[in-house]
Amino acid sequence: MSITGHCHCGAISFVAEGKPLYHALCHCADCRSWSGTPVSSWMAFKTDQLTITGQPVRYRSSENATREFCGSCGTGLFYRNQNLLPDMVDIQSGTIDNLALHPETAQIMTKDKLPWMDKLETLPRFQKYPGME
Ligand SMILES: [Zn+2]
Ligand SMILES: [Zn+2]
Repeated sequence: MSITGHCHCGAISFVAEGKPLYHALCHCADCRSWSGTPVSSWMAFKTDQLTITGQPVRYRSSENATREFCGSCGTGLFYRNQNLLPDMVDIQSGTIDNLALHPETAQIMTKDKLPWMDKLETLPRFQKYPGME
């Protein structure tokens, strides 16, 4: 199995070979702040499983972590942390092609989860934007 993906503008693409280690929704405040979304999602591979085409911009987001993104379109792509995740790379999974085929396997960092996240199922739903159906 291989997984492919790319940033929004296509300047950066990637291929990951083999099975991912996990695919997790991350509720941590650090991912929230960096991504600009209430929850983010990561699929992890060993570093040597991943081949990147193009040159992401690297941002040192904490003492041991770097986050990489496309300098043209701003899409967040990769997270690396040698202390926490040695020889691993997390791929921000919204960039992965055919993501519907790859269900999430866990929710992590739920200590930081926003209190209303568990009530999403109760919200009104719209197939498109409200008023466009
Ligand atoms: Zn891009
Ligand atoms: Zn996180």
